[in-house]
Amino acid sequence: MRDPRYDILFEPLQIGPVRTKNRFYVVPHATAMGMPALDEMIAFRKARAEGGWGVVCLEETMIHETSDHAPLPDPRMYNDKYIEPLSRVVAAVKEYGALAGIELAHAGASGPAINHREHPLSPTGKFPHYFINPISARTIDRQDITNFRQWYRDAALRARKAGFDIIYVYCAHNLSLLQDFLDTRTNKRTDEYGGVFENRVRLLRETLSDVKDAVGDTCAVAVRFAVEDRRRPSNITALEDGRRVVEALADVPDLWDVNVSDWAWDSGSSRFFEEGQQEPFIDFVKKVTNKPVVGVGRFTSPDAMVSQIKRGVLDLIGAARPSIADPFLPNKIDTGRHDDIRECIGCNACTAEVMTYSRIRCTQNPSAGEEHVNGWHPENVPEAHDPDASILVVGGGPAGLEAAHTLAKRGYQVSIADAGSEWGGRLVRERRMPRLSAWGRVVDYRVSQLQTMPNVNMYLESPLNADDVVGFGADHIIIATGAKWRGEGVGRHHDEPITGHDLPHVLCAEDILNDNVPSGGSVVVYDEDYYYMAAVIADRLAKAGCKVTYVTTASDPSPWTHNTLELVHVINSMNEAGIAIVVGTMITSIDEGLVTASRLLDGVESRIDADTVVLVTGQISDDELYQELVAKRQAGLIRSVERIGDCLGAGQIAQATYDGRKAGIRFGELTPTG
Ligand code: ADP
Ligand code: SF4
Repeated sequence: MRDPRYDILFEPLQIGPVRTKNRFYVVPHATAMGMPALDEMIAFRKARAEGGWGVVCLEETMIHETSDHAPLPDPRMYNDKYIEPLSRVVAAVKEYGALAGIELAHAGASGPAINHREHPLSPTGKFPHYFINPISARTIDRQDITNFRQWYRDAALRARKAGFDIIYVYCAHNLSLLQDFLDTRTNKRTDEYGGVFENRVRLLRETLSDVKDAVGDTCAVAVRFAVEDRRRPSNITALEDGRRVVEALADVPDLWDVNVSDWAWDSGSSRFFEEGQQEPFIDFVKKVTNKPVVGVGRFTSPDAMVSQIKRGVLDLIGAARPSIADPFLPNKIDTGRHDDIRECIGCNACTAEVMTYSRIRCTQNPSAGEEHVNGWHPENVPEAHDPDASILVVGGGPAGLEAAHTLAKRGYQVSIADAGSEWGGRLVRERRMPRLSAWGRVVDYRVSQLQTMPNVNMYLESPLNADDVVGFGADHIIIATGAKWRGEGVGRHHDEPITGHDLPHVLCAEDILNDNVPSGGSVVVYDEDYYYMAAVIADRLAKAGCKVTYVTTASDPSPWTHNTLELVHVINSMNEAGIAIVVGTMITSIDEGLVTASRLLDGVESRIDADTVVLVTGQISDDELYQELVAKRQAGLIRSVERIGDCLGAGQIAQATYDGRKAGIRFGELTPTG
């Protein structure tokens, strides 16, 4: 079953006093579940253990009331009352033979500590990095340092009591008090905890020793350490202090979990980072320490994983996103089912929910975060209530493909039709736009699965009208006909069409997606969509030789990408491409050769040259067929019809795949609407 080339991935490994059954390691990663959503947390982590990961870690778990990321709900180990609830996470993970890890953390100046109305702590008083709360951290004094060390010890002892096998000391992502001590930007102390390197590393060394003393006889003690801070300028780089920390503490922890900071570089999206992009920064670590090393790289290919181990870069294949997208990735490699791996597309829809304090979600894996709430399993689906029941899905984009796949897995007779000559709906064109090719995996996974299923018929180049659908005679109809980009400029700020939108030099996203691209001249790309499309179009046009000005009503370009950790990279790439950025500005009218714009704050008008204007102001659902079918149902010509995905409401692909899964799971259970 298993290809012997991958045997190395299934070799056990000793980590201090504990032993992992294989090399698949779910690193700590946020889920925005926390203590209020304990059952969700348990179900989420359990699914990864069930899928074969040898180690499953819990995210940043706060050790004290002076540390929280509120309103993000982190797990906590402040006191004994958290032992029992977190022991339930451990039990769920161990049920499948995985080791349970916990990332004990203190956020230092990076957490506003508002849950308990405490003052955050930092080496030398500072505002929190990630939050705009008007509270400055207070300078940690000698008594605080003594207390901090005690909090870590106590939390580690509680974690051991809860049953955790691997206990972390956290020093990464610019979200850690310990990292603040290493960083010369945040540590301006003049005592023995500040100044020279040996002083700045002192608290990390002491904390690791304390935790080892407390629990090291039975638990592995890991350190999560960012060897390189890519927010420049920084003293923590793989050539300077990052390396010196590993050298100084080489064999102190039982495990080095290494990465880069900030999160926007660690969980770099596929638009801006390749798989394995951290290797040049972390590859020195194994040469310096004799202890096992784990790191991440958005690895989904077993060959890439084997290569990491064989080339001596990593001992354990760390994963956050690949384990979110496919909790069963290890088991699929183990049983030779490589084609069944649901590969992460690197879109960071998962981080966006965490950044907005909602439960984690995933574009590729709609069951992520829904294991408890909806009772969805990443692999198993409820059996068909009637295997002869037939369903017609109209539209082969992410929503339609997911619905068809779920229904087919359940055992129904499924037909899926699409007007186009290629499967994928919106992704047929989007995957060809700059930097979006990895998103095509949403289509490739589902189409390759459907093509092997005997109970599925797939029809391309099949534009269906309402009579065609009625004539098909299916028991249930799912309409997933998607949406179209608006051409008249109605958007977040425009309730009425923009004057001049109908001039010949005014295009919309549909035109660019259809390759109707101006070959030069000045172009204004106008964004009221706020996600990726306008920036991607600006990039496409700059590459085609146009002089591009990107204009948006938002205060940042592509503002939603703050949540997908892409904003900084969007801005950098726009700057590199020579795209001018105008924010907080609304286009009020379009004339030949120019647009008139108004600054939102004060209404000051300006004119911007524009041989071409591209409006990216939102999408409108393509629900005509659905509405016609509702009338047919009311006339008794069909039994049931429902609409899903962008046809129901245009948005993220993650919503479309979620809708598809929901329609697939609920068929036969609930009466569809319409
Ligand atoms: P979603 O993101 O909700 O899956 P998409 O826009 O990606 O939506 O996909 C919609 C798909 O539906 C497109 O591929 C389009 O060609 C197809 N489609 C739209 N109307 C019809 C129709 N009447 N018959 C068949 N296919 C259709
Ligand atoms: Fe990967 Fe996107 Fe899923 Fe996150 S949401 S795990 S980046 S596919």
